[in-house]
Amino acid sequence: MKDYKRITLLSIILLWLTTSCNNSETSLLSPIATQNRTPSQIQLTEIGDFGIERKARPGIPAHLHTGIDIKRPGNNYIHEPIFPIATGTIISKRKDGPYAQLILEHKLERDSFWTLYEHIAEILVEVGQTVEPNTEIARYFNKEELDLYGWQFDHFHFEILKSAPSPIPPNSKTPERYFISNTLNCHDMEELTSHFYDPLIFLSSKE
Ligand SMILES: [Zn+2]
Repeated sequence: MKDYKRITLLSIILLWLTTSCNNSETSLLSPIATQNRTPSQIQLTEIGDFGIERKARPGIPAHLHTGIDIKRPGNNYIHEPIFPIATGTIISKRKDGPYAQLILEHKLERDSFWTLYEHIAEILVEVGQTVEPNTEIARYFNKEELDLYGWQFDHFHFEILKSAPSPIPPNSKTPERYFISNTLNCHDMEELTSHFYDPLIFLSSKE
C-alpha cells in the first residue's frame, strides 16, 4: 500500500475511534443510585434549587446557591452511595466533618468541566485517581453523622463548574484540599452563571 493511502486509512480509523469515544463520554448519569441513574430521577430539598438566595448566617455571607441539594433517594440511612456523573479525575479532597468535599475534573469533547460534592462521608477515592461513572466515591451521611452535624445536612450539595476551581495551599487540617470553588462568592446571576452551570439543566441536556 502506498504511504499516503496508509496514512489516509490510519486517519480514518483514528477519527472513528475519537468520535466513538466522545460519544460514550457525552452521556451523563445521575450521581445517585436511582433507576438506571437517569438525571430526571433527581429530587431536590425544599431550598435546594440552583440560584436560590441564601441569607447570611454566622460565619457564612449571603450568597446565591451555586449548586443543588440532592435529596437522599430512599430511606437508606446506613450506606446511600454517591457516584461521578462522568469519567473524571479526583483533584481535591477534604474529609473534615460536615464540609467534607470532593472536586473532580472531567473532559467532555473538547471542553473541561468540574463537579463538586459536599456534605459527604466515607470518601472512597484518592486525589489523582481516575474514576468511572460506576465508581462509588462516597456516601450520604448516615444517621449517626446527621445526629452529630445536624439534620439540615440530610442531602449532599452538588455543583458543576464552568471555570476551573482556584488552587489553594493545603494545610494540616485539610492536607488534600488543593482547590476551592466560588461557592460563597456569587451575589448576582451574572457572577453565578459565569462560574457555574445549573446542574439539572446541564445533566438533562446530555441525557
Ligand atoms: Zn447546597
